[in-house]
Amino acid sequence: PVRVRFCPSPTGNPHVGLVRTALFNWAFARHNKGTLVFRIEDTDAARDSEESYDQLLDSMRWLGFDWDEGPEVGGPHAPYRQSQRMDLYKDVAQKLLDAGRAYYCYCSTEELDARRDAARAAGKPSGYDGHCRELTAEQKQAYETEGRKPIVRFRMPDETITFTDLVRGDITYEPENVPDYGIVRANGAPLYTLVNPVDDALMEITHVLRGEDLLSSTPRQIALYAALADLGIAKQTPLFGHLPYVMGEGNKKLSKRDPQASLNLYRERGFLPEGLLNYLSLLGWSLAADRDIFSIDEMVAAFDIADVQPNPARFDLKKCESINGDHIRMLDPKDFAARCEPWLKAPVAPWAPEDFDEAKWAAIAPHAQTRLKVLSEITDNVDFLFLPEPAVDEASWTKAMKEGSDALLRTAREKLESADWTSPESLKEAVLAAGEAHGLKLGKAQAPVRVAVTGRTVGLPLFESLEILGKDKALTRIDAALA
Ligand code: GLU
Repeated sequence: PVRVRFCPSPTGNPHVGLVRTALFNWAFARHNKGTLVFRIEDTDAARDSEESYDQLLDSMRWLGFDWDEGPEVGGPHAPYRQSQRMDLYKDVAQKLLDAGRAYYCYCSTEELDARRDAARAAGKPSGYDGHCRELTAEQKQAYETEGRKPIVRFRMPDETITFTDLVRGDITYEPENVPDYGIVRANGAPLYTLVNPVDDALMEITHVLRGEDLLSSTPRQIALYAALADLGIAKQTPLFGHLPYVMGEGNKKLSKRDPQASLNLYRERGFLPEGLLNYLSLLGWSLAADRDIFSIDEMVAAFDIADVQPNPARFDLKKCESINGDHIRMLDPKDFAARCEPWLKAPVAPWAPEDFDEAKWAAIAPHAQTRLKVLSEITDNVDFLFLPEPAVDEASWTKAMKEGSDALLRTAREKLESADWTSPESLKEAVLAAGEAHGLKLGKAQAPVRVAVTGRTVGLPLFESLEILGKDKALTRIDAALA
């Protein structure tokens, strides 16, 4: 049976790269009717935080992911927070030491640096040189007497390691490029290099799907697995698949610290989880050459890790917004209205709660649904209905209120006065006629009307907007613009 894991460290805000990794693991688990293990890698007390842990869980729930084992749901391998599994790691480290698969290393940072620089200068491999591999009892004693505190270092086998990456095919590492590596700090704290594969082994993970940045740790982990298997701790070595890098602005790797990478940003801007996930699924994968828009169920049904492309994927915000807009269009109208609510209410909405009008909202919502890319755009699009005065955007105002627009507005006001305000068509006729009187096409003629009434040059369909706002308010605003 397939067992995959999503195992973030709770540092900072969740970012889109992390979400893409979670998505691919989740889709792989669901497609294969397997198990998704959610594990929290919080062994770095200096960087991990409880706040970030809460955010992670909240984000996963918001995105609609479920997990079969992990925080809140428990499971046979509990606890799923590494900070609560320290005794286990200590035990495994000791077993590795006892079996000679790991050793104490007393080299100081300064000594390591000096030898590395010398090796580089001589054109030799610059990784750990095995200095403490075969220390005698006396040598160890001497270091201990000096007061040195050793780290635990894993002994890499002197052999080529080849594995078949699920995304990239065969990958080979020569031993000189994968030196012995630290697994426990001098203060006794176990490192990612130990706890991650140990937990993957104990939790019987079958497939490790993670970012390409972790590719170089895979040969080390494969060697560690072999040692764990010899000790009876690991049953099998998982298969590995490394997901392509995500590139951001200027074709640079999208980093955690990139503001554009923060999941919170997408939530705050009103991306739908389904729109965002649809877009993120395209970062390395595709459903079909001619289909960019699909549901999460369609993705799950089609998802195969073998279809993931190894070349870097570019994060394209415009495309992400456009796909999100398509998902907004696909919502049931009631659902759309409900999802807009946070933006229509305090503290986000710029109008007083008592000025909000349910009937007007119900009338305008369908027009908004056909146009928004992200839900947060709703406020600017409907505020003219609920604010006592339109929120004037100065630049738009100057652009629309050119020479001659006063004369046009006056004519338009006259025609609108006698139009049928229950019919957008009639309101359009009125503005069209006003335009004709001044030698202007509809587009040019409606700009000053729109700015006078809504404060902006772009927005929802004007004549429907006018009808919903109502004759009195609309004409008062045109009068104010003319005054
Ligand atoms: N906690 C690690 C990280 O967030 C997990 C890496 C892995 O998937 O092995 O980078």
